[in-house]
Amino acid sequence: MDQITLVDVYAARDRLHGRVRRTPLQASDALSEVAGVPVYLKLEHQQITGSFKLRGATNAVMRLTGEQRARGVVGVSTGNHGRGLAFAARAAGIRAIVCMSELVPKNKVEAIAALGAEVRIAGNSQDDAEVEVQRLVAEEGMTLLSPFDHPHVIAGQGTLGLEMIEDLPGLDTVVVPLSGGGLLGGVALTLKTINPGIRTVGVSMERGPAMVESLRAGKPVFVEEVRTLADSLGGGIGLDNRYTFGLIRDFVDETLLVSEAQIAAAIQHAYRHERQIIEGGAAVGMAALLAGLVKDPGTTLVLLSGGNIDMHLHQRLINGEEVAL
Ligand SMILES: *Cc1c(COP(=O)(O)O)cnc(C)c1O
Repeated sequence: MDQITLVDVYAARDRLHGRVRRTPLQASDALSEVAGVPVYLKLEHQQITGSFKLRGATNAVMRLTGEQRARGVVGVSTGNHGRGLAFAARAAGIRAIVCMSELVPKNKVEAIAALGAEVRIAGNSQDDAEVEVQRLVAEEGMTLLSPFDHPHVIAGQGTLGLEMIEDLPGLDTVVVPLSGGGLLGGVALTLKTINPGIRTVGVSMERGPAMVESLRAGKPVFVEEVRTLADSLGGGIGLDNRYTFGLIRDFVDETLLVSEAQIAAAIQHAYRHERQIIEGGAAVGMAALLAGLVKDPGTTLVLLSGGNIDMHLHQRLINGEEVAL
């Protein structure tokens, strides 16, 4: 299962049929005006559980063996993967434990518990939560499902690429949030295999862009996790990264970084001009476009990847208040 191909993505789509939503594509007059090119938004923040992570989690859970199902799954998550995994596990009737750090916003923790998964808070970084996960795997035989560095997860996220290409023929550039790279890795593999002419752009936040710094270094590197409005993009890519680093390196044309102010402006823009409520991690693509960082993009698709933002924070951001992280 080492090499992930387009065939895996098509197989994932079959498996996900009827289990996840095919999310809408919407033309954005406001962004088209700003960018001077046709801009479309893929409204994946309207996915069940509020993010695309449900796709990868569902595909991975459905590929477990009978024995693995009996022992259950465990995940480490900044929130959205945990939510997707909890939903996918419950739908499949299996036990799920989600480990996360203290940095994860309370609304996300509560949402995971409400979906029927057990939540364990361990330490103040993703890496501390990882230690508890390893214990559950070693001592209780549970199956670890990485939020990004897993072939079945990547293939599940890749189904977004199929929808993009089908719903927007003539697509020139896709702009996608980038953290661990499961999302963009799957999408870029899919798009480039079908049409190598499509330009793939990943966007991370300036504060702790683990994949971008790893690409610069030519290998996975440790990047300290710091608070950011794009909390769902926090965390490292794993020094033992097996899949996503190579996929991003091979299939992604460029990466961009956006500031906290640019992320806040994009959340505001999404609400005021697009009538969409999106979280910081989902806003980075729009932020890059609004800031003019994507040069000569042609017909552009911006992926809005999640909507799980604390509503008090959202309210303050759209009111233009200064937000201390
Ligand atoms: C996880 C996540 C991302 C980044 O996905 P990766 O596969 O880690 O690159 C982007 N947006 C949202 C809302 C997420 O939850």
